[in-house]
Amino acid sequence: MMARVRGLSAVAVLLFSVLLLAACTDSGNDQQSSSGTGAGQEAELQQPKVVLASTQAVPLVYTTGKPTFVTIGTGGISGVYYPTGGAIANMVNLKRDKYNIRATVEATGGSVFNINGVLAGDLQFGLAQADRQFQAVHGLAEWQSRGPQKKLCSVFSLHPETVTLVATDDSGIRDINDLKGKRVNIGNPGSGQHQNSLDALNAAGIDLAEMEVVEVKAVKAIRMLEAGELDAFFYTVGHPSAAILKVTRGERKVRFVPIVGVDTLFVLHPYYVPSRINMKYYPGAANKGEDVESFGVKATLVTSTDVPAPVVYAITREVLENFETFKAQQPAFSGLTKKSMLQGLSAPIHPGAEKYYHEAGLQ
Ligand code: GLU
Repeated sequence: MMARVRGLSAVAVLLFSVLLLAACTDSGNDQQSSSGTGAGQEAELQQPKVVLASTQAVPLVYTTGKPTFVTIGTGGISGVYYPTGGAIANMVNLKRDKYNIRATVEATGGSVFNINGVLAGDLQFGLAQADRQFQAVHGLAEWQSRGPQKKLCSVFSLHPETVTLVATDDSGIRDINDLKGKRVNIGNPGSGQHQNSLDALNAAGIDLAEMEVVEVKAVKAIRMLEAGELDAFFYTVGHPSAAILKVTRGERKVRFVPIVGVDTLFVLHPYYVPSRINMKYYPGAANKGEDVESFGVKATLVTSTDVPAPVVYAITREVLENFETFKAQQPAFSGLTKKSMLQGLSAPIHPGAEKYYHEAGLQ
């Protein structure tokens, strides 16, 4: 436990561990302990109300000796998660005199990798799509064989992410149904987009066997597309995305392909919402003007019951107390409000975060 959270006094750590196990584990997972496995069962699992743990006994003890090191798992360096993790780490590192916390970020394979890293104690925080958080909490999708992940806690949610389908203009792909017979990247297995693309294809009635399926990280998919080795890729990402902007400015013309006619998605999966990509961000794309329709989820920050409350409190507090500075660090954060950062969470809120939300009158 807490292999990489070092520096808090032994007594404080023990106290936090007991409190957290009691608080976070009991607070939300009872109602989420369905062993459901399929999409139909997902629809029956309501997005659970976040059940708050008791905040009474969360002492805030920061050591003056050795610093506490925390690592935030992000995504590929070309995505929005990587700079988002950097922005979060910055906020708390600026107050190292107060908290004695040193936060660093790690480039990773994405949401699924991060959730598993947090659960294993290799990461203290991770960025993860809200749908993947939901699935881990309920023991679905990648967590089906392991069951509900009771250690998982949420901290806050962040920017909206859209399931984005980008295709070369000369591939002739204008609709999700045109993917048949094409070379399509559905995302690396550790990513959030992997399941999103499977869900979209399934809703469109496309069998994987009808396409040439590639499963690589977004950054590699972009390189392959530019090199003519791929016709299209799925990427669940916030907009504007620097990586996608770059591909729209490349020599090979690309377009955003709408994902429409997939309404069963919203019936089967409670966490998906209709979403649009604003083309004002991508003037170099072959499709001009009109927003491109698709569906999306929210990005969230997750942690584990093993991470001490003062650490989670410090991160939550510094991001929220310096909200305008934080928001200005990423164009994808433009729609964020403090209130919206408490929406779309299915894992119980970590007591350290909850303590701040109570103090700030947000809960
Ligand atoms: N949503 C992607 C994932 O979960 C990451 C997007 C990003 O890096 O901004 O893998």
